Amino acid sequence: MTKPYHIETLAIHAGQQPDPSTGAVMTPIYQTSTYVQSAVGVHKGYEYSRTGNPTRTALEDCLAALEGGTHGLAFSSGMAAIDTVLRLVASGEHVLAGNDVYGGTFRLLDKVLKDYGIAHSFVEMTDLRAVQAGLRPDTRMVLLETPTNPRLKVFDIEAIAALAHANGPRTLVMVDNTFATPYLQRPLALGADIVAHSTTKYLGGHSDVVGGAALMNDEAVFERLKFLQNAVGAVPGPMDCWLVLRGLKTLALRMDRHAENALAVAQFLSDHPEVKEVIYPGLSDHPQHALAARQMRNGGGMLSFVMHGGVAAARRVVARTHLFALAESLGGVESLIEIPAAMTHASTAGSPLEVAPGLIRVSVGLEHKDDLIADLQQALM
Ligand SMILES: *Cc1c(COP(=O)(O)O)cnc(C)c1O
Repeated sequence: MTKPYHIETLAIHAGQQPDPSTGAVMTPIYQTSTYVQSAVGVHKGYEYSRTGNPTRTALEDCLAALEGGTHGLAFSSGMAAIDTVLRLVASGEHVLAGNDVYGGTFRLLDKVLKDYGIAHSFVEMTDLRAVQAGLRPDTRMVLLETPTNPRLKVFDIEAIAALAHANGPRTLVMVDNTFATPYLQRPLALGADIVAHSTTKYLGGHSDVVGGAALMNDEAVFERLKFLQNAVGAVPGPMDCWLVLRGLKTLALRMDRHAENALAVAQFLSDHPEVKEVIYPGLSDHPQHALAARQMRNGGGMLSFVMHGGVAAARRVVARTHLFALAESLGGVESLIEIPAAMTHASTAGSPLEVAPGLIRVSVGLEHKDDLIADLQQALM
């Protein structure tokens, strides 16, 4: 059940049939590590829960359907998903990444995989000539987020995938779609080979679970990643899969409201005399606004801003909000605020990806927008 249904319907039904043994409408939490065999090798498709678990299967099939993919794999965290996908890259090969990525992805490339002989470089992917120039004969993976974390740059997935594929048949494109979610943007349809997610964020949506996923269409890529998922073993437990499945059911509703609230907050901040710059893809003054309008259903729920007063003003603002909790992470129903340079992106200090110390990142939640604006208003005074 994929093709004729809209994403709102898929989020509720894909991968999930009433339980055949009891009729339970909600997918049960199959809290089991192993499965009985009637004779050696004779079973109902499940042998051991690292290899497969029915609650995980439901989540994997649902996420694949949402991304318009034929295959899905769930992981114990977003980093586990990205790490497993990057194991497609052999020692001696190269990863070309966008120059604004999640701090943990930077850390994995720069502080872990580099020591295993996997090279990487970062390029400004708003500039397609820089992408072209960054591609090498040994580039195995092009890795990008869009919108990026935390600068909210928007990269042209279709154009970058075309350049990557022209580089040679071995060059794969992985898009980390955590910020946009498949409700706003579907990278596989734009030419990406693999979509990665931190389901911890909007897909789970309630700040109560850590998880990840990789979705794809290519059979050979899936078979290798499925092998790696089992061999490496960074799988999510059934309870965590169930929490993400539950969150997914309201994805469309939540993303529409996140974007409506984020646009209202962005407009308020843009008009505020103490605010120097607001970065939100849904604002017409965003440098890639036209691309965002084409590539995404709406501007999403994330924005960043800079105060005229710099770092000191930023630190004051994040300490003074009441509704916006000062915390890492994003994508939950509650609004969060943070300073990436000192928090989520501290690992990029001293690197070309270092974030300006005064940049404030906001995950706009689902509270009433007037309450959110009033909270920022008092914090900015
Ligand atoms: C949070 C995040 C990750 C890492 O996911 P975890 O679930 O925390 O491991 C990767 N990419 C992006 C864009 C993120 O926001």
